Amino acid sequence: MSVHALLFFCYNIFMISKRVLKIKDSAPLSINNRVLELKNSGRRIISFGIGEPNFDVPEEIKTAVIRAVEENYSRYTASDGSAELKRAIIKKFSRDNGIEYGEKNIIASTGGKQCVFQAFQALLNSGDEVILPSPYWCGYTEDIKLAGGIIVPVETAPSFRLRAEDVARAVTPKTKIIVLNSPSNPTGMMIAEGELQKIAELAVSKNIYVLSDEVYEYFYYGARPISIASLGEGIKNLTITINSVSKSFGMTGWRLGYAAGPEDVIAGMKKVQDQVTSNPCGLSQKGAITAMEMNPGWITSHLSEFKKKKDFVVGALREMNISVEEPDGAFYVFFDVSKYFGDKIAGSIRSPQGSSTDFCKELLEDAGVAIMPGVAFGNDNCVRVSYACSWEDLREGMGKFSDFLSKIR
Ligand code: PLP
Repeated sequence: MSVHALLFFCYNIFMISKRVLKIKDSAPLSINNRVLELKNSGRRIISFGIGEPNFDVPEEIKTAVIRAVEENYSRYTASDGSAELKRAIIKKFSRDNGIEYGEKNIIASTGGKQCVFQAFQALLNSGDEVILPSPYWCGYTEDIKLAGGIIVPVETAPSFRLRAEDVARAVTPKTKIIVLNSPSNPTGMMIAEGELQKIAELAVSKNIYVLSDEVYEYFYYGARPISIASLGEGIKNLTITINSVSKSFGMTGWRLGYAAGPEDVIAGMKKVQDQVTSNPCGLSQKGAITAMEMNPGWITSHLSEFKKKKDFVVGALREMNISVEEPDGAFYVFFDVSKYFGDKIAGSIRSPQGSSTDFCKELLEDAGVAIMPGVAFGNDNCVRVSYACSWEDLREGMGKFSDFLSKIR
């Protein structure tokens, strides 16, 4: 570390709040920033890192927003989303998930990410425990810490399939929330219906809230995902369902997410939102209304393509002698590369034995392929590949990945 870096580090320690110092940088955004740097320097980089679909926003959504701009739809809306958007969200939950809500059960926010943050803020007191199936999406951990919660990971490796009995074993009198994410980022696994039913019974019997993150609900390759809140009135009254138009409609940059849940929890989330951002972007709300009203069948055409890409990546990895669990959904494959660690991958000073971060850094710098280190998701043996990209990138990138492995073997 240079003297300048050391001084900067010390300055941070004394000036920046302990609350902020204890949270980590967002790993996907850090990788993406490095990808942009390399691209700006003129290098060809193939990115399997960031989790966003490569299809275009449907024309009817674009048209609705252009019309809204022309009609000067430019003012603040209700802070938790316009009544028109809430009605569209209510209809969507009824049509797709079999859950009936009223307007007071709904909030629209700046991405599903903000909904997750606010749900933890609304529910957690310092020392409350949150059961978090691992590997997990990297956003949850830092949000839980910021809200004063204690993370209780429940390991799902090597199958990455969550079992209700493991969740039950992790419950203590301090358990406040169980987090579910099915299909999962980063593993692509879904929670089996029987396990979901048992988790619902457990939550109801112990009066534990469930945060059910369903942002990948339309990306599945077999049985359709089930919303835990649809399994009965008891569990519905304890569940905060998070969703968003980011992944489903290719609208990641529009930043529009929503949550449904018990009135008092949603009111708590709104209280936080009112102080932090007020309403999510009005134009994005207009786009989201059209998205909600679209026939969800439109995604089917993309799904068959995603399935082909998933099969391609899984097949290519198996040919490289990498053991892979077949994902049920989302657009990620998560797999163990630890056999390449140690003296095969040059370790940094902080992890002389090698790590998923070292592996990903070398792959990016050497082969120009960006993937995500598993440590960001709670498993330092694994890495995540997002296959939501073009066939050209996928073929070239997997080829480069294979060459890289041959080189370091
Ligand atoms: N939940 C999961 C599991 C995710 O993977 C993401 C984004 O990657 C989000 C929530 C947040 O999505 P957004 O804020 O774009 O709606």
